[in-house]
Amino acid sequence: MEQYIECCQTEEDFKNAFSSFVGDARSALVVHGHRSYQACGAKDLVEALSCQMTVVDFDDFTENPKMEDVQKGVSLLQRTEPDVVVAVGGGSVMDMAKLIRHYAHLDIRLLAIPTTAGTGAESTQFAVCYIDGVKHSISDASILPDSVILYPPFTYNNSRYLTSCTGFDALAQAIEAYWNINATVESDHHALEAISMIYPLLEKEHLSPSDRDALLIGANAAGRAINITRTTVPHALSYTLTSKYSYPHGHAVALTFPFFLKYNLEGDASRYMGSDYGHHVEKMERLRSMLNVQDAPFAVMKHYISRLGLGFDKNRDFDDMTVARGINLERAKNTPIAIDPDVILAAVKSIRE
Ligand SMILES: [Zn+2]
Repeated sequence: MEQYIECCQTEEDFKNAFSSFVGDARSALVVHGHRSYQACGAKDLVEALSCQMTVVDFDDFTENPKMEDVQKGVSLLQRTEPDVVVAVGGGSVMDMAKLIRHYAHLDIRLLAIPTTAGTGAESTQFAVCYIDGVKHSISDASILPDSVILYPPFTYNNSRYLTSCTGFDALAQAIEAYWNINATVESDHHALEAISMIYPLLEKEHLSPSDRDALLIGANAAGRAINITRTTVPHALSYTLTSKYSYPHGHAVALTFPFFLKYNLEGDASRYMGSDYGHHVEKMERLRSMLNVQDAPFAVMKHYISRLGLGFDKNRDFDDMTVARGINLERAKNTPIAIDPDVILAAVKSIRE
C-alpha cells in the first residue's frame, strides 16, 4: 500500500493538509500523548481544525504500549466507529493508534502526525506492544498509516534528552537498515539519506528550526528504510533494557551500538550471513567514512553517544544475563555478521566500558 506523506513548513500548510485528509468526515478518534500533546502545540491546532467534528480523545495508556491498553482503545473505536483516526505524538502513540485500528478490524483511515524526530513509526507497517513485560512486534501491511503529515514546529521544543533518544533511534534504524541482510536499493536510498541528515545534527548543542526540519525528514526516511528491512541486533538486544531497566527505546539501542558498529564493520567473510560479501565490504567502507569513525569505530561511537547523554547510567544498572537472555532472535537474524551467545554477552558487558 502506498502511503501519502506531506511535509508542511507553515501553519497554513498544516491546516490545508489536515483538512484535505479529514475531508467531509464527521467524527474522529484522536490518539495522543499526555502533557506533550499540549506542550508541542498540537492540541490547540488539532482541536481548532476538528471543531466541526465529533471528536473522541484516547490517551489512556502509558509509554511502550501494553496489550491491555490496546484493548481499551479497540473497544472505544468499535463503540464509536468514527470516520477517521488521527494519531498525534511520539512512537508509542503511533504504535498504539496503529494497533487499535488493526485489531478493531474496521476500515477506517489513519492519519499519523509525529511530534518527535523520531521513531519513523508513522511510516512503518509494524508496531510494538508489551504482553506481560515481553515485547512483541506485530507486522501487517494494513498497519501502515494511510497518510502522514510531517510538521516540524511540533518538535521545536523537544528537550535535549528526548531529541537525543529519538534522534539516535532514527540514526540506528538507518544504519541497521543499511547493513541489513534484507537491504534493497530502495532501503539503501532511504537509509543513506537518513544517516547523512541525522548524524551531524544530533551533536549540535543548539538546533535551529531548519535543523529540526531536517531531523524530522531524516527520521521519516529511516522509518521507511526499516519498513523494508526490519532492524538488527542493537534493536534486538534493547528491549529488556527498556521494559525492565527503564532506558527509553533510543537510549537502550545506543548502549550496545558502539560494540555492534565495530562488530559489523570488521566482521569477516566466514561469519557473513548475506549473499554478497564483497558488496557488504564496500558498503561498510562507505559507512565508515560517512560516520568518520576511521579505525576506531567503538571509541568514536562511544564518545558520540556519551556526548548525546546516552551512555551507561549507574542509576539504571542491570543484570548482564537478564539483558542477554532478553534478545529477540527474530530481529537479530537480520544482522550481517553472525552472532552467538558469547558475542551477545560481550556486547552487554561493553555497555559499562
Ligand atoms: Zn527503534
